[in-house]
Amino acid sequence: MVIHPDCVFCQIISGEAEASIVYQDDQVTAFMDIRPLFTGHILIVPNDHFVGLTDLDDAYGKQMFTVARRLAKAMLHSSLDCEGVNLFLAEGPAAGQTVFHSHLHVIPRHSADGFSIQHPAGYGERPSREILDDIAHQIRQSLTSE
Ligand code: AMP
Ligand code: ZN
Repeated sequence: MVIHPDCVFCQIISGEAEASIVYQDDQVTAFMDIRPLFTGHILIVPNDHFVGLTDLDDAYGKQMFTVARRLAKAMLHSSLDCEGVNLFLAEGPAAGQTVFHSHLHVIPRHSADGFSIQHPAGYGERPSREILDDIAHQIRQSLTSE
């Protein structure tokens, strides 16, 4: 297991730091977020130290998503006031990442919870197909096999 002694999520995985664990297997650990957006907010982390989405091993990513599906179902069937679920993953500080051990947020939602994504100015305009095709081309050119 790749453990970084200064990483709080590595400390949680190794049992050095306290956490309320919901699920653990040989690849991932899921525990309650210490500052929940809503009651029931869970983080799923790989048991090895990957910084973010782009260096995450696919096998761990697959298991994170599998466990997210199972936890989302559990939340919806639990006694929590949960009507829906959001998954969120921040890659890099510009995207809001504050802990640099990759993690997937599983966030219980309710139609009246008051949470919404704030759209930037100008949101809503539809670019032409030509522009969308050009952007798709630019990203496609940077695609690698992994
Ligand atoms: P992000 O902003 O996507 O990097 O999310 C980091 C999340 O980690 C935040 O929601 C924090 O509340 C949460 N967090 C930080 N330290 C701990 C901890 N020791 N135990 C549980 N959650 C934590
Ligand atoms: Zn770590």
